[in-house]
Amino acid sequence: MKFALITGGSRGIGKAVSKKLAEDGMYVLINYRSNKEEAENTLEEIKASGGAGELLQFDVSKPEETERAFEVFSERHPENHIEILINNAGIRKDNLQVFMGDDEWNDVINTNLNSFFYITRRVLKDMLVNKFGRIINMVSLSGLKGMPGQTNYSAAKAGIIGATKALAQEIASKKVTVNAVAPGFIKTDMTAELDEKELKKMIPMRRFGKPEEVAELVSFLASEKSAYITGEVISVNGGIY
Ligand code: NDP
Repeated sequence: MKFALITGGSRGIGKAVSKKLAEDGMYVLINYRSNKEEAENTLEEIKASGGAGELLQFDVSKPEETERAFEVFSERHPENHIEILINNAGIRKDNLQVFMGDDEWNDVINTNLNSFFYITRRVLKDMLVNKFGRIINMVSLSGLKGMPGQTNYSAAKAGIIGATKALAQEIASKKVTVNAVAPGFIKTDMTAELDEKELKKMIPMRRFGKPEEVAELVSFLASEKSAYITGEVISVNGGIY
């Protein structure tokens, strides 16, 4: 069984990804920050459908906590390593740049961008030694086109897109691929307070996407079938650019 770590795997897109990868036969490590109940629900659903996995709580924006979580993982599973990493955990703290406070900037950069560095460097060595790995980064339409009211979030996501392309070239010869998935508007808690009726007029498919529609692409990128695809950013956005 391959081990897959899904950060923010307890709710929304991460939950759909955790369920899909478990269905694909992977042992899923479901990370979350604080909502233990939702994380436990997700794991229960996976187990009820015959999947396997466990919870791995840590705050991805905190390097010491991240490090400790990896130590816990190694103690629990000394013979195993993570072969598939889904850097999915993310937050929004929208504000116009002129009013944006330090916390709004730093929290979004630490959670959405710096976490990529802390976590990816930790799993990379085993992937390189074993000459197999899949790293999939959840970015956003905001990181591709820039979204007003989201300079912090757009900067974080654009930063990961750059890192995806750079890292892909560093490690391609070791058969470890790095790709990014860029959702548009997907129906989750993160988009719950948006005016869906108004926003969907801008989307050529005239609807928000479902988390499961993002998970299908992640499943393909995490599989052996995607071996020759690396450094790509693939959108799942109903045609909105
Ligand atoms: P949700 O708000 O529905 O879920 C967020 C998940 O991330 C939860 O599991 C949450 O855990 C976890 N999380 C948040 N902060 C941390 C942290 N510091 N450490 C560990 N876990 C954390 O988000 P979505 O599913 O909508 O978004 C998932 C990803 O997709 C994000 O990176 C987001 O930027 C991106 N995205 C989403 C879009 C959308 O329309 N929904 C569009 C484009 C991109 P807990 O429950 O414990 O808080």
